[in-house]
Amino acid sequence: MRSVSGVRGIVGTDITPELVTRYARAFGTLMLRDDGGPVVVARDSRASGAMLASAVVSGLRSLGCDVIDCGLVPTPSAQLAVEHHSARGGIVVTASHNPIEWNALKFIGPDGLFLDSESGEALQALVSSGDREAGSNDQGSLAVDDQAADRHLDLILQLPFVDAESVGRRSPLVALDCVRGAGGVIMPALLERLGCEVRVINGETDGEFPRAPEPVAQNLGELCEFVIETGADFGLAVDPDVDRLAIVDETGTAIGEDYTLAFAVEFILSRKHGPVVINLSTSQVVDDAAARFDAPVRRTRVGEANVARAMRQEAAVIGGEGNGGVILPDLHLGRDAPLAAALIASFMVAFDLSVSQVVNRNPKYRIIKDKVSGIGAIEDAYDRLREVYGGATCDTQDGLRLSWDDRWLHVRPSGTEPIVRLIAEAPSEDVALSLIRKAKELMVVSSNS
Ligand code: MG
Repeated sequence: MRSVSGVRGIVGTDITPELVTRYARAFGTLMLRDDGGPVVVARDSRASGAMLASAVVSGLRSLGCDVIDCGLVPTPSAQLAVEHHSARGGIVVTASHNPIEWNALKFIGPDGLFLDSESGEALQALVSSGDREAGSNDQGSLAVDDQAADRHLDLILQLPFVDAESVGRRSPLVALDCVRGAGGVIMPALLERLGCEVRVINGETDGEFPRAPEPVAQNLGELCEFVIETGADFGLAVDPDVDRLAIVDETGTAIGEDYTLAFAVEFILSRKHGPVVINLSTSQVVDDAAARFDAPVRRTRVGEANVARAMRQEAAVIGGEGNGGVILPDLHLGRDAPLAAALIASFMVAFDLSVSQVVNRNPKYRIIKDKVSGIGAIEDAYDRLREVYGGATCDTQDGLRLSWDDRWLHVRPSGTEPIVRLIAEAPSEDVALSLIRKAKELMVVSSNS
């Protein structure tokens, strides 16, 4: 599947060495237009990763691009490596939270941010046209950087918000699940150096995911049991490329990945005032956290690249996505699970509360997600929704988002499938479900009328 953020699919049928070489050459060509610097290559722990990464390396070197291979590291470590090496960009071989048989390429620009949609479209156009620089006699050099994860870890520990001394005094017991992804190379070491006592499951980095790899509550049963078994203060789970973090409370309940950003926002705002940037589908638990400090919240289009750019524009002090992706500009403008883990551990120690106590202080919501197909003209469907929900606040940056004081509905066409996604959040499941049901009715009616 192609999209402006890259290409992903099943290895062997969709994703082949030939295809990724073509993408690597197109990316190298695009980035040659900026001058100088090597291209950083990295991968997660999937079995196909090394094979596909070497195809990426070959494609880049055949153009004369120098390559720095960071090997198996978290995606945020690779983003930081692009900045560290003043590289002209980076390519990460990872399918993030998708199932084990998938792989994909993520493209990083010279600023360490994922390509915006304009550059993504330029890349896809280059791939389609087959247009490329003439083969070069000067093949690019290849260097290995095996320090990317260690540098990343050091930078986190140097942040003014991260207080290893206080964490070390309390030494919370943390149960950690790395799903046999790239988290194993950084998460246990980070938490230990921070002063936590750590118990790890799935810390191997062989890509043999023992469960569905997305860190949503329903996939974290093993970690929930492990928290109870070890008597941990809390549990942490990451996705395979370590840009998303989820929390399990001290009773062994997965609290939902929306709370990761809410906790991080509350902690950072307790230290530093400023705007918060989140995407349109992020839970209101983040607004509630920001409201404690009267911090303005700006919502952007869904997608890390959009959130990161809006954060730069707004000079946000923190931001991210409700899926467990925390972005702290003091470190870099990328979703970063090791960073999130350090902030959560610092928060728990500084506020001296348990995870369930923090959750229970605030209003609770239910989020319901659904999808619908065969809508016809999407603008007509939006009009119908706007007409029926005249009292709602409308946001049309990305599909249509209707919001009220304590609930919202976000409707947007999928970038990769011929469907429309619906997501609703409300104080109760019934209210969220009825928002979704009514919206589906209205959207389907609008296409038939
Ligand atoms: Mg990911």
